[in-house]
Amino acid sequence: MLGPLLLAASGSDRIRRFVSGAPMTRPVVDRFIAGDALPDALATVRALAARGIDVTLDHLGEDITEVSQAHRSRDAYLALLDALGAEGLGDRAEVSVKLSAFGQSLPGGRRLALEGARAVCAKAAEIGTTVTLDMEDHTTVDSTLAILAELRRDFPRTGVAVQAALFRTEQDVRALASSGSRVRLVKGAYKEPASVAHQRRQDVDRAYARCLNTLMAGEGYPMVGSHDPRVIDLALKLAERYGRAPDSYEFQMLYGIRDGEQRRLAAEEGRRVRAYIPYGSDWYGYFMRRLAERPANLAFFLRSLLTR
Ligand code: FAD
Repeated sequence: MLGPLLLAASGSDRIRRFVSGAPMTRPVVDRFIAGDALPDALATVRALAARGIDVTLDHLGEDITEVSQAHRSRDAYLALLDALGAEGLGDRAEVSVKLSAFGQSLPGGRRLALEGARAVCAKAAEIGTTVTLDMEDHTTVDSTLAILAELRRDFPRTGVAVQAALFRTEQDVRALASSGSRVRLVKGAYKEPASVAHQRRQDVDRAYARCLNTLMAGEGYPMVGSHDPRVIDLALKLAERYGRAPDSYEFQMLYGIRDGEQRRLAAEEGRRVRAYIPYGSDWYGYFMRRLAERPANLAFFLRSLLTR
């Protein structure tokens, strides 16, 4: 019940101002966000790399209203990639981009977002890494997949996230499970209407299993984006069934969630694990989606308010 309320709150400016301004929020935010600035993110990348965990970095920012903000997002990614290149981290770190931060929903947004993403893909290629497009709510899927197709012409390793919750995704993964494609399968973090998405957890889980089977049986590079132990077991079983080598797919989890499991998996011979690291000052939407996902995350937040 609380999940949908929190997801609704993630779009409210009033609640955003209240939560963002409250000093007691910060320690809880720090559990999920690797700091406000680039040096904070780089320190986290180094610490994880030392434990054999690769990363994908998300410079936080979404729901923008002006072209200048889209340019600022793009420039933040360019600076991030420059810094990763300077530290020789191109082989451990890729970046995750929300096209809304690049102006996707502004008038003429498709072209604007494509131009921003293209500049970031070019810089990523320069330092030997790549870009994955996050998936946002269902209204953005067609546009995101169209931009992906354009980007892949010049940058074939560009990846995309798809959400098992959406009915259309089973069809989308069939089209995407082809040679050279990189697909991150997630359950889906947005509140979606019953006309387009499964509403019950068990239906999302079943759809996830079907999509994962398609990706593992296919010729692309599956990225298993989940903290769910049942999903991880299933991925390992499917990899065995389809004769996949450990380096032909990877596990991805969010920064601050199931750290022990991330380390355990990464310690297994040849296993690839990537942590998704968000950083930046615009953390509100991301933070609220994490609270909505899991009562334990919310309980942690409420406890920290009471114990200060
Ligand atoms: P859930 O269904 O939330 O949980 C299943 C089980 O996992 C739980 O019962 C528990 O056993 C375990 N678990 C989950 N969380 C915890 C925890 N905090 N501590 C201990 N155990 C836990 N969503 C999008 O819509 N678009 C994206 O682009 C996107 N990118 C993502 C990238 C990555 C790398 C990841 C991991 C997630 C991403 N998501 C994205 C979020 C995703 O859609 C889900 O909302 C989120 O991952 C929660 O689903 P879950 O599969 O982890 O399992």
